[in-house]
Amino acid sequence: MDMGIRGKRALVCASSKGLGRGCAEALAAEGVDLILNARGAEALEATAEAIRKTYGVAVTAVAADITSDEGRAKVLAAAGEVDILVTNAGGPPPGMWTDWSRDDFIKALDANMLTPIALMQACLPKMMEKGWGRVVNITSQSVKAPIAVLGLSNSARAGLTGFVAGTARQVAGKGVTINNLLPGIHATDRADALDGGAAKQQGISLDEARAKRAATVPVGRYGTAQEFGATCAFLCSAQGGYIVGQNILLDGGAMNATL
Ligand code: NAP
Repeated sequence: MDMGIRGKRALVCASSKGLGRGCAEALAAEGVDLILNARGAEALEATAEAIRKTYGVAVTAVAADITSDEGRAKVLAAAGEVDILVTNAGGPPPGMWTDWSRDDFIKALDANMLTPIALMQACLPKMMEKGWGRVVNITSQSVKAPIAVLGLSNSARAGLTGFVAGTARQVAGKGVTINNLLPGIHATDRADALDGGAAKQQGISLDEARAKRAATVPVGRYGTAQEFGATCAFLCSAQGGYIVGQNILLDGGAMNATL
């Protein structure tokens, strides 16, 4: 299926690895030129070069912390006008509800709520002026079903979800859609870090921790960045123009719910 986005320009944040990279690759496969971002320049440059070679699209790589004002300014200046925005950043650390201070909450809110909001505020006006735009925010399954040890993530992402619910309806009339993608467990460095923590806590091996988690997913395995990216590309497609303000859960059936 031709997704009708060849020649568009996308800013994909936090995209040298994992789910962000999955989204970048799926968009590149549709002929979309990219601005990629991550903090570590080496992995970022390697990803940019691999995507250029594989898909033949133009790729600009901007090494910066997307959660800082300076980092965002640098990325937005290099990106210029974009048709597609994929927001993403690292997730907050796990812990107990008793552990977190005001500063911990402010840090999580900055990274996983206020950063995507600032990026949307920067990119939406031009998209609306042009009469076409797509925004996909990478959030988490924790928005629908809380993950107890990720209380900082549960809180910050819920705030972003509320902002998107209202804003998506305000911009839809200008040809701009905003939706959220909610990953359940996917095989990335982030999953390795979470499984490493669980293995240590339970006194089991990393493989055992992975197998234990995979057994909680009806599909019986972790999701892949490719599957995740393909869904992102569809949300960004011409055909996705009637999908507005949705929270799409990609979790292999892990959340046991009727609706
Ligand atoms: P990942 O494999 O660890 O990749 C994270 C990517 O983001 C890397 O490219 C990293 O590069 C970049 N990054 C991290 N912090 C950044 C920052 N401040 N500024 C710019 N780039 C940054 O993580 P992932 O699994 O793809 O997760 C992506 C998001 O989905 C996270 O918010 C995570 O919490 C959420 N999520 C993931 C899962 C899962 O199972 N994987 C499930 C639910 C939610 P640098 O380190 O070089 O900056």
